[in-house]
Amino acid sequence: PEEYNPYGVDPTKPMIALTFDDGPSKHTWAIVDALKSHNARATFFVLGNRVPSYQAAIDNLLANHNEIGSHSMGHANLAKLTTEEEIAAQIRPVDEALQKQHAYTPKLFRVPYGSKNDQVLAVLKAEGKPYIGWSVDPRDWDVKDKNKVVNHVLANVKDGDIILMHDIYPSSVDAALEIVDTLQAQGYWFVTVEELLALNGVAAEPGVLYHVIG
Ligand code: ZN
Repeated sequence: PEEYNPYGVDPTKPMIALTFDDGPSKHTWAIVDALKSHNARATFFVLGNRVPSYQAAIDNLLANHNEIGSHSMGHANLAKLTTEEEIAAQIRPVDEALQKQHAYTPKLFRVPYGSKNDQVLAVLKAEGKPYIGWSVDPRDWDVKDKNKVVNHVLANVKDGDIILMHDIYPSSVDAALEIVDTLQAQGYWFVTVEELLALNGVAAEPGVLYHVIG
C-alpha cells in the first residue's frame, strides 16, 4: 500500500506534534491561520461542550488538515467517576456532536488532568480510543508568559515529541507561533498526532497511553 504521507513531510527530518487542549476558543482561528501560513498542522483536543459555540473555527481547522482529538465533554476528572457509564457519557457525546455537525469523528482521546485509572483505560479501550499524553509540558496555563513557554519548549524538544499547550490563552497563541518559526528554521516538521504515529509506523491501540512517538 501507498505510504501515509499526504502533506509531503520529509521523513528524514525531525517531526513534532503541537497539541492544544481545552478549546476551541476565540483564539483557535488565529492559530489555525498562522499554522496554515507555515504549512504546519496541529492537533486540538477539544471539549465537547464548547463545540457548538465554535462551528466556523472547527470547520476552518478541519479544512486546513488539522486534527481534532477528544478531551471529554466537560473536563471531568474521569478517575473520580464511579461507573463505566459515567465515563462513557464524557466520551460518546463529543463524537456524536462532531459527527453530526462536522462529519468528523475524533480517533484520539486525551484524559483531562491526565487523571486515569484502570476503569478509565478500560472504557477508552471499549470506545476505541488511544490515550494521547505528552512529552513536553511548558505549563502554559500556569505561567501565561510567552517567553517562558517558548524557552521551555526550545530547551526540551526532540524528534517525536508531543507538546502540551492550550489554545485559550493569548500568550500560548503567541508562543506557539514563535515555536513554529524557530523550530522550522531548525528543520522540524509540525504534524498532527495521527501523522506522527503513522509516519513512525505506530498503529495506536485503544486504551493504551502514548506520550512520545518514535
Ligand atoms: Zn484540559
